[in-house]
Amino acid sequence: MVNHHSQFDKLAVADKLEDALGLTVKVGEPMNLHTSFRVGGPADIYLEPTTVAELQGALALISAEGVPYRVIGNGTNLLVADEGYRGAIVRLGPRFAKWSRESTNQIWAEAGIPLPVLAKRAANEGLSGLEFVSGIPGTLGGAIHMNAGAWGSTIGEKVSRIWVLGDQGVEKLEKEMLSFGYRQSNLGDKVIVAAEFVLAEASSAEIQERMQEYLKRRQDTQPLGLPSAGSVFRNPEGYKSAKLIDEAGLKGLSIGGAQVSPIHANFIVNLGYATASDIYRLITEVQAIVERETGILLQPEIELIGFSTP
Ligand SMILES: Cc1cc2nc3c(=O)[nH]c(=O)nc-3n(C[C@H](O)[C@H](O)[C@H](O)COP(=O)(O)OP(=O)(O)OC[C@H]3O[C@@H](n4cnc5c(N)ncnc54)[C@H](O)[C@@H]3O)c2cc1C
Repeated sequence: MVNHHSQFDKLAVADKLEDALGLTVKVGEPMNLHTSFRVGGPADIYLEPTTVAELQGALALISAEGVPYRVIGNGTNLLVADEGYRGAIVRLGPRFAKWSRESTNQIWAEAGIPLPVLAKRAANEGLSGLEFVSGIPGTLGGAIHMNAGAWGSTIGEKVSRIWVLGDQGVEKLEKEMLSFGYRQSNLGDKVIVAAEFVLAEASSAEIQERMQEYLKRRQDTQPLGLPSAGSVFRNPEGYKSAKLIDEAGLKGLSIGGAQVSPIHANFIVNLGYATASDIYRLITEVQAIVERETGILLQPEIELIGFSTP
């Protein structure tokens, strides 16, 4: 086991952040409260900025103190270790979620807006193009970071420009400067603060009907009643991970409270008493068996935080 002692004074850094920004800063915040897997130990420092100025101030101070940090959204694509995270978790969620209709067919929104809310807003405005995100429980920022997609569409194809926080402050990146691939973007560690979409005008009723159809298909094929992080593995070129795992006979395989979903083989679910370590061990077990059976090493789509050997 790696020694997880913090290299900085948590309480002192938290105090400085609170004094400088007037924000509530938590020390030792349990990350199971902020991840859809419902597992994960304490983050040394945890805060939820509500404005770009607060976010910028917080990151500047955290960096100046030499504290590692991660920006997260809804934690729906994350596995946080039981030992937690030795650094600061900066969450952009529903408190960082303003949106507006910019012109006839454009919508602008902040990174923390939940995707289902964004889809609903667009539908109410009679703007089509974001229906596919209605069942993805992450935030807009998390979705752009990894180019989330469903039903043949990806968020990357829909954005017309985004705003990121760089060393020089907020930068606007036009579509031409962005490049998206399968569950990846060229944004690296840049913090996404907002995005704009050019959508197509359509009737709200029609859009809502499409959203309902997508949601129903998810309910029929995904284990939505138990905590998970959606698909665990990326699809290897030319293959479907779910099919490879299913064909290896692994549906229902469990370690501790973590189980390969009997409903969808590429989902790992938390049966209610899983630890992050159970889930991690199940991931490596599935990888080992599928590799032995097929020669293909599945790569995780979810991101690991706080593990010493990711
Ligand atoms: C039931 C279920 C169904 C799902 N279905 C799908 C699906 O159909 N398609 C799909 O693609 N995914 C799916 N997911 C996975 C997940 O919802 C998406 O990947 C989502 O985009 C993650 O967003 P998040 O806000 O939860 O990000 P988090 O999990 O919080 O973070 C994920 C990554 O994004 C980074 N990040 C978060 N916010 C920002 C930001 N503002 N700026 C920069 N980086 C940021 C984090 O640092 C981290 O690296 C599903 C998950 C669940 C639980």
